[in-house]
Amino acid sequence: MKKIVKVALDVPLYKVFDYSFEDEDCNISQGVRVEVPFGSKKKVGIVVETSDKSSPEQKYKIKKIDRVLDIIPVIDKTMMFLCKWAADYYQHPIGQVLFSSLPTKLKQGCDRYYYSKSQLVYEANRIKSKTKIVLNDDQEKVHQEIISNSSVFNVNLIEGITGSGKTEVYIKIARDIVESDGQILILVPEINLTPQTVSRFEKYLNCHIKPYHSSLTDKNKFLVWDACGNGKIDIVIGTRSSVFLPFKNLKMIIVDEEHDSSLKQTEKFKYHARDIALVRAKKLKIPVVLGSATPSFESINNANNGKFKQLHLKKRYFTKTMPTVTVVDLNKDTSEDNLSSTLIRKIEKELKKGGQVLVFINKRGFSSVMMCKTCGWISKCTSCDAFMTYHRTNNCLQCHHCGKTQILSKKLSYQCTKNCEYIFLGAGTERIEKKLKDIFPKNNIIRVDSDSINSIKKLENFRQQCLEGKVDIIVGTQMLVKGHDFPNLNLVAVVDIDSALFSHDFRSTEKISQQLVQVSGRSGRKSDNSEVVIQTRVPNHPLITELLKKGYSNFSLKALENRRKTNLPPFSYLSLLRISSIKKNAPMSILDTIANKLIKDKNLKILGPAPAPIMRKNNRYIYQLIIQSNNRKLLLLKSSQIREYMVDNKSYDLRWSLDIDPIDLF
Ligand code: ADP
Ligand code: ZN
Repeated sequence: MKKIVKVALDVPLYKVFDYSFEDEDCNISQGVRVEVPFGSKKKVGIVVETSDKSSPEQKYKIKKIDRVLDIIPVIDKTMMFLCKWAADYYQHPIGQVLFSSLPTKLKQGCDRYYYSKSQLVYEANRIKSKTKIVLNDDQEKVHQEIISNSSVFNVNLIEGITGSGKTEVYIKIARDIVESDGQILILVPEINLTPQTVSRFEKYLNCHIKPYHSSLTDKNKFLVWDACGNGKIDIVIGTRSSVFLPFKNLKMIIVDEEHDSSLKQTEKFKYHARDIALVRAKKLKIPVVLGSATPSFESINNANNGKFKQLHLKKRYFTKTMPTVTVVDLNKDTSEDNLSSTLIRKIEKELKKGGQVLVFINKRGFSSVMMCKTCGWISKCTSCDAFMTYHRTNNCLQCHHCGKTQILSKKLSYQCTKNCEYIFLGAGTERIEKKLKDIFPKNNIIRVDSDSINSIKKLENFRQQCLEGKVDIIVGTQMLVKGHDFPNLNLVAVVDIDSALFSHDFRSTEKISQQLVQVSGRSGRKSDNSEVVIQTRVPNHPLITELLKKGYSNFSLKALENRRKTNLPPFSYLSLLRISSIKKNAPMSILDTIANKLIKDKNLKILGPAPAPIMRKNNRYIYQLIIQSNNRKLLLLKSSQIREYMVDNKSYDLRWSLDIDPIDLF
């Protein structure tokens, strides 16, 4: 009998395709790959639905499946549910969502057992515990709370101050789960954090622990994917994409640093791994643990209204005190190249004691803008509404938006008859590094940003040097802030936060307070004598004073109250439509139609159409519409109408994107 199946393809189309096959020839189930004709080509597809009857009202001739590639589905029932949910919620083509969860070789149609000869080798014995893990009372209480309620869906939010030992709690929970033959997934925000976290787990647990992230080779990704689905891996420690790994017997998901915005993918398929984890856990009826020293306002709100259970770790594991904080008023202090005399004195003192210092600045490069004193030339990118950053290491200007680079020559402007006389405005890591090297020539100073540390190997090298006590001063960006544990670090300096204090983004208060607390938290993990120095020209800014006075917990509650008063997320929901074109103003009329005709509704607030915060990027003009509602269902319905409208009104010069629950609006 001829049967019809619905097949998803890796194409940017919001639909699945009908194909037919002869029932006697083969057996097809949901989630297997098939090879099908598509246009003039052959493509690999995934069967999303099988049905017993052929649909009678087909106007066109249904093509036949060429080949069935799997016996066992590559997408199991849970993954099918999860991918369908995500495609629906995030308005992304189902085929692309399904295919993005598969290893490259499988996407290309290779035999699933292609690599099986080189499979990961697993010893049969499973000695669970190497070093016995002993928790302190607070940790034990949190561990008990979670494990005693681990056979149903529930969400535990651990708010544990920096250095309180959240990781050890995760390890003990993981041990319990693995001992009862379950698997556990641990999401971390950064690739950089995976090696360190894996080795901390391996110190205590002798089971199958594997990292998973985008810089694994295709082969290793396949091996983890395969072994995880077969239940051969006990613990996966991975970045956001690992939330789409198949598991045979997943019993818990832990999301570490749950506030971190890198859990949200901002390109193409714009999903939030924490939210996907919640949906997956609910489906599987298993618990989720969210951990952070600085929980997201979304999660705090969910704890306040009883959806999440909030657990606390209020004390540091090794020390009794938190670092003292000194705010340096840059209006009063003399400073040169962004380093105040107070800070330099403190660094000097710390180095004399043999301690380590961390200098935090969240900009890479040497200077963010360059000018010529004589002719007024300024380092504007010719393709973007942005300035090019000067990178001293390779003597070039670089646009951080479109990637354009230009070698710095003595004369960049034809208006200057002689050589240009450059001045450097705004400081980045390279400049601070240079200045510190001038002041402390004998000390070992290391810069840690995505330019200097661009591989896991380099990061590991740096960590090793730190452990051996070879590094005196670390100059770094946010790359350093996240979850790193430097035992000998007792002075942290925040060089420049002023530019962030006056941002338009309603999330900036949340972001800066998290960053300040996290970077401060690197100081004094093993010493009661530690300090944080914050340099600013606005020492009385409420964010600084209130945060220091109240601490993150109370500060965030009050800041959350402001969100409630202004009806901003998490009290309302947002969706962001961006359209770009090479022609200025071209997206405006279509955005206008959408705003004023298509989705007009009294329960929606529509902001825009307006130019995007950076209106021109890579020679494309970007405009946006922000849609806000207190009704999530309505917002999703309207978002899908927008998506349909954009698909129907395709135009070769327009590119568009929809972002549900956007994080970067400004
Ligand atoms: P957090 O992630 O909460 O900031 P960490 O997990 O990094 O804190 O813990 C801080 C330090 O305390 C780490 O060096 C960690 O190894 C140590 N630590 C925490 N709990 C324990 C424990 N139960 N036994 C041994 N060391 C611990
Ligand atoms: Zn540019």
